[in-house]
Amino acid sequence: MTDRDGHRDRAMEERLRADIEDLAVRIGRSVTLMEICGAHTCAIGRCGIRDILPDSVRIVSGPGCPVCVTSGRDVDTALSLAGRKNVIFTACPDMLRVPGSGGGSLQGLCAAGADVRAVGSAAQAVEIARANPRREVISMGTGFEASAHEAAFMLETCRRQDIRNLSVFTTYKDMKPAIRALMEDSELAVDGFLCPGHAKAGGGYAEIPARGRAAVVTGFETLDILEGIRMALAQIARRSFAVERQGAGAEGPETGTPGDGLTDEVFMRVPAEWRGLGVIPDSGLVLRNRYAAFNALARFDVPILDSSDIMGCMCGSILRGVASPGECPLFRHACNPENPIGPCMVSREGACFMEYAVR
Ligand code: SF4
Repeated sequence: MTDRDGHRDRAMEERLRADIEDLAVRIGRSVTLMEICGAHTCAIGRCGIRDILPDSVRIVSGPGCPVCVTSGRDVDTALSLAGRKNVIFTACPDMLRVPGSGGGSLQGLCAAGADVRAVGSAAQAVEIARANPRREVISMGTGFEASAHEAAFMLETCRRQDIRNLSVFTTYKDMKPAIRALMEDSELAVDGFLCPGHAKAGGGYAEIPARGRAAVVTGFETLDILEGIRMALAQIARRSFAVERQGAGAEGPETGTPGDGLTDEVFMRVPAEWRGLGVIPDSGLVLRNRYAAFNALARFDVPILDSSDIMGCMCGSILRGVASPGECPLFRHACNPENPIGPCMVSREGACFMEYAVR
């Protein structure tokens, strides 16, 4: 179900709102649903979904923004790598403005003379490496499994074409172990998840209903999201859980990794540090030994850095769904899109940025 011609179908919206009200009354307690995709964070904020729900139904943003969940230690490591001599450091545009624990950023390094470039894809880093054969090009890999798959393809291309001046600093992550960690979080007590249907956020949602939570794969328009919420509440009301798909808007693979096996050939799973969620077993994707020559950490001998959280920033709690942007004392005044203090305000998919944009 999508909004026809970009307009909201008010009658359908009213019907869904009435159904949601009825279900909330039937459930008879507060319910927390979590969305786990940056595109859902944007859509829910843009459409004002929170404003039209009953008070007892809370939608929280989870760790769906890959820039936001990148740990402070990884940001500091990126800064260490980008400052090396003869290096061209590439990263996604939002990552350039994320502050490290000392307050510096890739953008700041760039202003100070480092060669830091924003790229939209891993393939662009290969082009830069080809064009600069005497320079070392480091590609910071940020994202979930679909992004890792793109990087795997890039590395296989480099291996075949004998491109030796490119390496990867991987912070790629698998969302599934993070969902598991969230379900074990007693402070959060999440009742269900709104999941993206496309591959970007990972997938493999079967464990959610197995652990007694609702799971609905839903689209990104107002009516899609309202229907997804209605379906999740219906599962909670009847205490019967499954992974359900909401309409045509949720079409697409939900398994996360394109099925050619390349991601698993290039990457292996290790414990990884997530901002706000700590170290989660098997959630990090690092290069297998066969691809060790492309491992920037090995090539540049980076020490393990002692990093700390950004002073006063509540991004960690927001990414866990236990705080909302408005609860951060820095929100809007000290921290805003022109002067972002934490990654959730830097990233266009961040909960703080979206809250600032719509309020
Ligand atoms: S408002 Fe700024 S400082 Fe506060 S949690 Fe969000 S990003 Fe961090």
